[in-house]
Amino acid sequence: MEKQQCMERAGQSLYHIYNRFPVVFDRGEGVYLYDTDGVQYLDFGAGIAVMGLGYGCKELNDAVKEQVDKLYHTSNLFYNEPAIRAAEKLKAAAQMDRVFFTNSGTEAVEGALKVAKRYACNKGMGTDYEIIAMKHSFHGRSLGALSVTGNDHYQEPFAPLIPNIKFAEFNDLDSVKALFSEKTCAVIMETIQGEGGIYPADQEFLKGVRALCDKQDALLILDEIQCGMGRSGHMFAWQKYGVKPDVMTVAKALGNGVPIGAFLASGKAAFSALAPGDHGTTYGGNPLVCAAAERVLDLFEDWKLADHVNEIGIYLWEQLERLKDRCDGITAHRGCGLIQGLEFSAPAGPVVKEALLEQHLVLISAGSNVIRFVPPLIIEREHVDEMVQKLEAAIRAVEKSAAEA
Ligand SMILES: *Cc1c(COP(=O)(O)O)cnc(C)c1O
Repeated sequence: MEKQQCMERAGQSLYHIYNRFPVVFDRGEGVYLYDTDGVQYLDFGAGIAVMGLGYGCKELNDAVKEQVDKLYHTSNLFYNEPAIRAAEKLKAAAQMDRVFFTNSGTEAVEGALKVAKRYACNKGMGTDYEIIAMKHSFHGRSLGALSVTGNDHYQEPFAPLIPNIKFAEFNDLDSVKALFSEKTCAVIMETIQGEGGIYPADQEFLKGVRALCDKQDALLILDEIQCGMGRSGHMFAWQKYGVKPDVMTVAKALGNGVPIGAFLASGKAAFSALAPGDHGTTYGGNPLVCAAAERVLDLFEDWKLADHVNEIGIYLWEQLERLKDRCDGITAHRGCGLIQGLEFSAPAGPVVKEALLEQHLVLISAGSNVIRFVPPLIIEREHVDEMVQKLEAAIRAVEKSAAEA
């Protein structure tokens, strides 16, 4: 299909929900994507922090192909071995007690919220319990996940949402304290806010929220869908803080593009919340996606990916600091490992577009003024160098056309 034809046909058939860039990707290899004209793109978006192992990972492809020929679905009315092995490996990586597999991040958040509600219900808290979430957070687009997403623009057209959700300021412990009461059944937040602009939680904030939850017997739910799976330089970002959640959500990089998510629970949340019949999924945890997740988890270990992320993340940090020094339009730099963000004094959209169409560099924004760097975790220094050189060229081109306008 010609690119133009592709765009027209998409416009006539696919629901217009996304304003897409005029690029049709065809295949990928390592940290590079190729469009239908064979043009190569360096990818620092990884399909929104999904392709941790990069594209065309042979070891993963082999595992998926093998399972395709064996069995890919049976339902949760029966047992399957890939799900058991994937759950054991995920549990071990998180040092948590129980796993429930979902098809997406949003569904993992839905499940986590149900764990919190059920836990409160079992304690006889009635039904007017409250959940504290954070402003500028992102937890997904289904009605439950949207209810705890601190973004008025996303929420307003779909009101009323789930009641009794209160929004605190991220990294402001007093604002959480002010909302906490005997009705609070859970606090949900990202360990590192992703869509909101790459804001890592402060150590004292996370510790303080944990302590508040402990005091009230409320559950701490950490959403690690974006920042988990090695991206922070630890398998899960909370491990860097030494603050363990009662419930954690994962997805994105868990299947390296094969759609799978999960929520994990530990201690009381694992043993005195959901019971048989309380939750379910038809596809979730089927042998095909679990064979993928199992191999992904093996490869993370075999390749010592979290260590690699630590090392290369420092290099990325240094190079972005230098770029920030050279460019007046860059006002802040945040994050760690391979989840970093640069904030600009103007909307980042034009730079993202210029980088893609002229430099063949895939970048994604987070909020309006931030570019986030969430590349495949397998990048090397040479890819960082190539990215920074292309990004700077894009920034200069946008500056030049702004000056001419
Ligand atoms: C992407 C994301 C979600 C939603 O995941 P989906 O797979 O798109 O449903 C939830 N929380 C966070 C932190 C995310 O980054």
